[in-house]
Amino acid sequence: MFYEPDIAIIGGGPAGLMAAITGAGADASVLLLERDDHLGGQLVKQTHKFFGSEKQHASVRGVEIADLLSQQLTDLDERATVWTGATAIGLYEDGVLTVEHKGLYKKIKPKRLIAATGASEKYLSFPNNDLPGIYGAGAVQTMMNVHGVRPGKRVLMIGAGNIGLIVSYQLLQAGVEVAAVVEGLPTIGGYMVHASKIRRAGIPILTSHTIVRADGTESVESAVIARVDPFWNVIPGSEKTIACDVICIAVGLSPLAELLWQAGCEMRYVKELGGHVPVRNRYLETSVPGIYVAGDLTGIEEASSAMVEGQLAGLEAAATLGYQSEDYESKRQDLVEQLRQLRAGPEGDKIREGIALTLHGFSPKEVDHAV
Ligand SMILES: Cc1cc2nc3c(=O)[nH]c(=O)nc-3n(C[C@H](O)[C@H](O)[C@H](O)COP(=O)(O)OP(=O)(O)OC[C@H]3O[C@@H](n4cnc5c(N)ncnc54)[C@H](O)[C@@H]3O)c2cc1C
Repeated sequence: MFYEPDIAIIGGGPAGLMAAITGAGADASVLLLERDDHLGGQLVKQTHKFFGSEKQHASVRGVEIADLLSQQLTDLDERATVWTGATAIGLYEDGVLTVEHKGLYKKIKPKRLIAATGASEKYLSFPNNDLPGIYGAGAVQTMMNVHGVRPGKRVLMIGAGNIGLIVSYQLLQAGVEVAAVVEGLPTIGGYMVHASKIRRAGIPILTSHTIVRADGTESVESAVIARVDPFWNVIPGSEKTIACDVICIAVGLSPLAELLWQAGCEMRYVKELGGHVPVRNRYLETSVPGIYVAGDLTGIEEASSAMVEGQLAGLEAAATLGYQSEDYESKRQDLVEQLRQLRAGPEGDKIREGIALTLHGFSPKEVDHAV
């Protein structure tokens, strides 16, 4: 027997939550699947206040945005069903979605599907990178901010993008020493406001540096770092040993798109977006009709754009089933405009270039307008 909602949404992060709220708000029956035992995705571990505009909850802490969106969904509970502890494990070409839910194997045949599975952390290869004490930055954030566990006493952070900088600051707030932030590029990738906080706390940010190896017997005891030339070759004689019991890797995220490969969606490698992403139109429908995407799965960005994409995917999926309000067209244009504004300016260059490479079926003029 199949469970047959109008719309199934995989992933209960900001993108999936907004897709569910919008779909159910338009009167469609919605099933939201989340593999964790709680909703919110990355938001639940973000204790800092967000940037962006008021429409995307700027100045509110990530964890509070997660509560706010979960409550909005609960208020729609006649039309929205939420399964937590539910991992989507298969998406087949006949449109069947299989799910492991609290020990049971279930089959779902939704009329529309929205994938909002987010991203996974990239890793680095270096000698001894399997020693206990080496973590992804997201894992360290989960340990500290969700489970209240300090990862160690002295951390070496690899990566000076926003995640490396924010997690370094949160480590300091948790009473953990940060020995240094090491960055391979000649410049800091994250926002200056985060970098300045770290520097004010006396932590060096070493650009044009990399990790050469980790050392330790049972677990990490130190790391060797070195300066690199513009081609990322280690400059001999520049090696330094840093005492630390944790090495935290913050070198980027990759879209989590396995289910879309399985469903036969056309995929493209777009380095500006973090890896393989689904080809899709400006309203977020993939090359497989009826399958939509939203959030970091479409390219690594921010919670603000993930929330707007979730709304757009939810609105579109519902509208194609006939759940279309009178102001549908103006809502749709407003969401496209919000995305355009979030991606405007030099900060959005990379994202705009990446998105132009993933769109299909549009003239260059329309692509310009869409991104
Ligand atoms: C340290 C850090 C700081 C950040 N700071 C900011 C900031 O200040 N402002 C900002 O706008 N953004 C920020 N971001 C980025 C933001 O958190 C992400 O862009 C956003 O969470 C992406 O939303 P999403 O819904 O696409 O994915 P996620 O939040 O990753 O949610 C995806 C969800 O899908 C679930 N899932 C995955 N696979 C399955 C499956 N097979 N079955 C069921 N469920 C599944 C996951 O468990 C997860 O809950 C930050 C990120 C990090 C890591």
